[in-house]
Amino acid sequence: MKAAKLVNRGKLALLEEDPPSINSSDEVLLRMVEVGICGSDLHYFRLGAIGHQIVKYPFTIGHEGLAIVQEIGQKVMTLKPGDKVVFNPAISCLQCDQCFAGRPHTCRYLKFLGCPGELEGCLKELIVMPAQNCFPVKEDIWPLAVLVEPLAIALYAAQMAGEIKNKKVAIFGCGPIGLCSLFHCYLAGASLIIAIDKVEARLEAARRLGAHWVDNPELKKEVNEIWAAQFDLAFDCCGDQQALNQAVSILKPGGKLIIIGIPEIDQISFDPHLLRRKEITIYNVRRQNNFFLQAIEFLQKNKEALKSLITHHFPLTDIQKAFDLASNYEDGAIKVTIKI
Ligand SMILES: [Zn+2]
Ligand SMILES: [Zn+2]
Repeated sequence: MKAAKLVNRGKLALLEEDPPSINSSDEVLLRMVEVGICGSDLHYFRLGAIGHQIVKYPFTIGHEGLAIVQEIGQKVMTLKPGDKVVFNPAISCLQCDQCFAGRPHTCRYLKFLGCPGELEGCLKELIVMPAQNCFPVKEDIWPLAVLVEPLAIALYAAQMAGEIKNKKVAIFGCGPIGLCSLFHCYLAGASLIIAIDKVEARLEAARRLGAHWVDNPELKKEVNEIWAAQFDLAFDCCGDQQALNQAVSILKPGGKLIIIGIPEIDQISFDPHLLRRKEITIYNVRRQNNFFLQAIEFLQKNKEALKSLITHHFPLTDIQKAFDLASNYEDGAIKVTIKI
């Protein structure tokens, strides 16, 4: 079967490999249909690493997938061949202290698709997953359901933020997760939403999804002056030092900073005096915890609005082109997907 592999920094190739097979009675064999390119995939593509997780080439990335169940293990009762599914790419041990504490997303033995040193990703024709990680999706959100995984992260992050109604919210970074967070805050009744991004097409999408005010910091750099100490909640969805500085500056005393973005550097810094004087709370979001069903339901209710987030589809044979375009934020790219 064909598998897309990172073969060097910025280089992908289609290689042949043996198809996988079911090894345990609770697993299913999935035929991949479509895979979304995530910001984290782009980090591995560009840099060959995220922090200490370093790619050993060749390696398949990708974890946001739509698939059709091809074969099921003997004990699988919840799925049948032909079912259309999305899957949680995080496979937890279900036996460690974190799993017992209801935190399977920070499982000590977590294996995540497309994560170096853990599991190969899903940018390939067939993969094997535990049945419990798979969620059937109805025809009406197929193939839009490729957004379920990033949407689950946005909804989980919003839950950390607590009450959103009548709150002033700032979104830094308007990729798919930033835009999903923004849209959720809009529906949840935020009184003011501002969105900051360097890509104009993403700011337009932010406006469409409910932002009252948008800014491109490269052009204007006026975010701090206009909005100093006014916001209840700031979502960092880009991992950029400048954005984090702005977020701390625009938060009001008692405000919350929710960090979802992945920095491209290994150290970020904060002004401790600003954080301390305003008593800012910082939340770190590690992907998501048990939000797949909510994300599917949210997508079902809001499919028209969220449709515009998927801007490009490429065939597997154009994988290099797809990653180059997504990585350079060209042509108004928001979510770029690969049809397998
Ligand atoms: Zn993702
Ligand atoms: Zn565990």
